[in-house]
Amino acid sequence: MHDHEYDLIVIGGGINGAGIASDAALRGLRVALLEAKDFGGATSSASSKLIHGGLRYLEQYEFRLVREALAEREILMAKAPHLITPMRFRLPHRPQLRPAWMIRIGLFLYDHLAKRQQLSRSRAIRFDRHDGPLLHEIRRGFEYADGWVDDARLVLANVQSVAERGGSVWNYCRCQSAFRQGTYWQVEAFDERRELGFELRAKALVNAAGPWVNQVFDEQLKQRSPRAIRLIQGSHIVVPRIHREPYAYILQNDDQRIVFVIPYQQKYSLVGTTDVEFQGDPRHVHVSDQEVNYLIGVVNAHFKHNLRLDDVLWSYSGVRPLCADESGVPQAITRDYTIELDEDPKLPLLSVFGGKLTTYRKLAETAVDRLAPYFESCPASRSRTDVLPGGDCDPDTLSPLLHQDYPFLTSAQASRIAHAYGSRARLWLRQAKQRSDLGQWFGDDLSQAEIDYLVTNEWAYQSEDILWRRTKLGLVMSESQQLALNAYLSQSQLNAYQNKTA
Ligand SMILES: Cc1cc2nc3c(=O)[nH]c(=O)nc-3n(C[C@H](O)[C@H](O)[C@H](O)COP(=O)(O)OP(=O)(O)OC[C@H]3O[C@@H](n4cnc5c(N)ncnc54)[C@H](O)[C@@H]3O)c2cc1C
Repeated sequence: MHDHEYDLIVIGGGINGAGIASDAALRGLRVALLEAKDFGGATSSASSKLIHGGLRYLEQYEFRLVREALAEREILMAKAPHLITPMRFRLPHRPQLRPAWMIRIGLFLYDHLAKRQQLSRSRAIRFDRHDGPLLHEIRRGFEYADGWVDDARLVLANVQSVAERGGSVWNYCRCQSAFRQGTYWQVEAFDERRELGFELRAKALVNAAGPWVNQVFDEQLKQRSPRAIRLIQGSHIVVPRIHREPYAYILQNDDQRIVFVIPYQQKYSLVGTTDVEFQGDPRHVHVSDQEVNYLIGVVNAHFKHNLRLDDVLWSYSGVRPLCADESGVPQAITRDYTIELDEDPKLPLLSVFGGKLTTYRKLAETAVDRLAPYFESCPASRSRTDVLPGGDCDPDTLSPLLHQDYPFLTSAQASRIAHAYGSRARLWLRQAKQRSDLGQWFGDDLSQAEIDYLVTNEWAYQSEDILWRRTKLGLVMSESQQLALNAYLSQSQLNAYQNKTA
């Protein structure tokens, strides 16, 4: 057992926990971040990957949420230009579902609710003037802009920013219990890798366990939660690219829901999402046949390309932890967040309910502002202007430079690396002159040098951490290449252990 003392301990290394830890570390607080599994391994890597205002929330009169999210869109694009890229969305018009005037008003508000510097304004378009991918009867529509994000890497960039400011960050370390003792919060954690328990203490505690927020209240804090949440499953499928246009499509379905079709990794389309009430442990969420059929049905009602069940190459599901409200249907439940502060005179507990990737920074700023009076010194937040690790470059300038400096990389590979690592790319590409300088290769795209960097600098532990979160190369790697990666990681862990004990 060993002791660690902090100002603030954060339970949960999803986007909200990582964002709060990062905001606090930027203000000079001593921070610890505990994540039970992998950073960003739960809801925060199972999203539609959009940094967006949420056009459809206007229909539910969520003006506050949309205004905040639209403003955050601009801030986040400047904080992490490598991870967040502008994307144009096309909205086919279906007059029987929503009249054109209603969409026009919605888009006008979307354009004007917050300052917009980097993204272009919306416009009406006609589809019948060119031979596009949509069914011939769809003739009119609209186009607007939002942001696309590498969600898991956005979490990791926040975790890196905590570590780089002296914070302690642990993945695969679960908070087992937390209680007030004397002048501290006493926290017991269990390190799954080393099979070792350890203790930490702090003046303030944050419960940012996402869908597990109330489980943490019940099991770790042994307190009643001040709020109810509703768990709503959402699933996505990945299929071969449905169309070659550089746009995402936002499709309106007869049930009043919308489904996105988003270009994904050059060769694929990402289709989602669903809204299904969820019961059980969110760790075991998985896509159902019904959801897959639903998503295929919506695509086929709009595109000439006929999608079939065996086109589905991959799928993923996540559970939204939404603040329970009176809404009957899952899609109508608010996506806004609530922060609850249990105002103990000395040892505060702050809990996060709900939220979106898009609003994580503002949520984090608000959370640490609420905790600030408890600390001797806690300056104002700097997260609005602080650039996330790797974000101090333009990926579209970097990408051709990498292709030029490392000619053995294809332009697609250079682009992937520029967008994933930004200005940090050369930390593992180093002086490589040829492919073999990057060590063993696991398929065309993943090198030993990249894996070693991810293990040493981004807390990668298992092959899934690398395949599905830090890179998204799981989609293009064969089973045998994935097994070879597993074997390599196990051997490196063994070597590290033997070096330590020698
Ligand atoms: C299908 C879907 C699509 C979405 N699309 C978008 C989108 O396009 N844009 C957008 O802005 N938002 C989107 N969202 C919402 C967004 O993904 C979530 O709001 C956000 O990821 C929630 O983050 P979180 O940190 O609260 O939760 P999580 O990411 O789930 O993190 C909570 C973490 O707490 C950890 N934890 C739990 N118990 C413990 C414990 N005892 N000790 C230590 N750690 C613990 C968990 O392992 C988990 O990693 C989407 C959500 C879903 C489900």
